[in-house]
Amino acid sequence: MRIDLHTHSCFSDGTDTPTQLMLKAGQAGLDMVGLTDHDTVDGWKEAEKAVNSSGVALIRGTEISCKAYVDGSAMGRSVHMLSYLHQGDDQGLKRLFEDVKNARTERVKKMVELLARDYRISLENVYSHAQEGVAIGRPHIADALVSAGYFTDRSECFNKVLYNGSPYYVIYCAPDVLDVIATIREAGGVPVYAHPRASRRQKLVPIDIIEQMVRAGLFGLEAYHRDHSDDEVAEVLAIARQFGIPVTGSSDYHGKGKPNRLGENLTDPAVVEAIETQGALNIIWPR
Ligand code: AMP
Ligand code: ZN
Ligand code: FE
Ligand code: FE
Repeated sequence: MRIDLHTHSCFSDGTDTPTQLMLKAGQAGLDMVGLTDHDTVDGWKEAEKAVNSSGVALIRGTEISCKAYVDGSAMGRSVHMLSYLHQGDDQGLKRLFEDVKNARTERVKKMVELLARDYRISLENVYSHAQEGVAIGRPHIADALVSAGYFTDRSECFNKVLYNGSPYYVIYCAPDVLDVIATIREAGGVPVYAHPRASRRQKLVPIDIIEQMVRAGLFGLEAYHRDHSDDEVAEVLAIARQFGIPVTGSSDYHGKGKPNRLGENLTDPAVVEAIETQGALNIIWPR
């Protein structure tokens, strides 16, 4: 069984429709895919419809933007929390997605204002690269900068102007990860901490906060991910062993926007089985 547990479609900042994503997953020899668009479940329906034609099983999920507030600091460190098999119509999660979307909208507006001093881009340019209603973010700003001819791809934009701490970077308020874990569990979801040791792109969350996450109901850690060096993978495995929790692996595929290839990292089927046992929804298998 080849299982890739973390991918994005055009319902967030990926470039494939859920149908294209499922078909490509089949072509890549995958047996199961987790669709985990940022802060939404809107892509699930289309992905479900593509299960039979693609021959790929679907595990429905979401990647939720949150923060760990370390040492009482108001700033917080960015955390991406994957949730699997939660009830899509859960009110607590819906409210959370709305709050995050509103905060992101304001933040993108501010970033575009800063960028517009040096680059000829507008908010309209940015929104033209996003489907309606998506959690708007830096990848969409990158698309606008690329189509205006300033950079060749999203990666170059992130490296040169959109990285955390860049003069054009603006933070946004995101919910506390411990609350998010509780909300996920209340919605019948299974929380997995995405790329927890990706030090190249984020400030790391100290181990005592990860311990609090485990106590709050964290299921596991994403270990095998291209943003982790070999040493960082080893560190995640050690943390997981320390707390007795499982690890996952995934591509974090975004379509054309990123070099990540479907199936470049995989998850053990036994771990997926445990996720399904704890989750409110079932995995959808092809007929
Ligand atoms: P945001 O949520 O708006 O802060 O932007 C974070 C998103 O940008 C995540 O979904 C990442 O997948 C994406 N991202 C982060 N770093 C890069 C990069 N170097 N190249 C392309 N996309 C990136
Ligand atoms: Zn993304
Ligand atoms: Fe992420
Ligand atoms: Fe992701």
